Amino acid sequence: MKKKERSLERIERRFNKEKKVIERLKGLKVLVKREMTRIIREKCDGCGNCIEVCPFNVLKIEKGKAVVKNPERCRKCGACVSACPNNAIILED
Ligand code: SF4
Ligand code: SF4
Repeated sequence: MKKKERSLERIERRFNKEKKVIERLKGLKVLVKREMTRIIREKCDGCGNCIEVCPFNVLKIEKGKAVVKNPERCRKCGACVSACPNNAIILED
């Protein structure tokens, strides 16, 4: 087999492989999670105010500090920020 034919075959094989991958990816949904609420751990004293006021169950206490448990549920209402006595919560844009 000539050199040119061999390289054409190689290119075709590679192309078919990539085509199969693209076909498989078409069926997948891509979920991008964006964290809207951020807790400054050093400032948090674990009082739990933010957890009580959050209407969407975004936050929870873990090892004595607030953590963002369900970031995708945050509606940026700001209730947790107002309830925090230590300014430990930041709402990202
Ligand atoms: S901004 Fe509102 S929805 Fe988001 S974590 Fe704070 S209280 Fe919950
Ligand atoms: S209200 Fe502030 S200090 Fe209290 S648990 Fe939430 S982040 Fe921590």
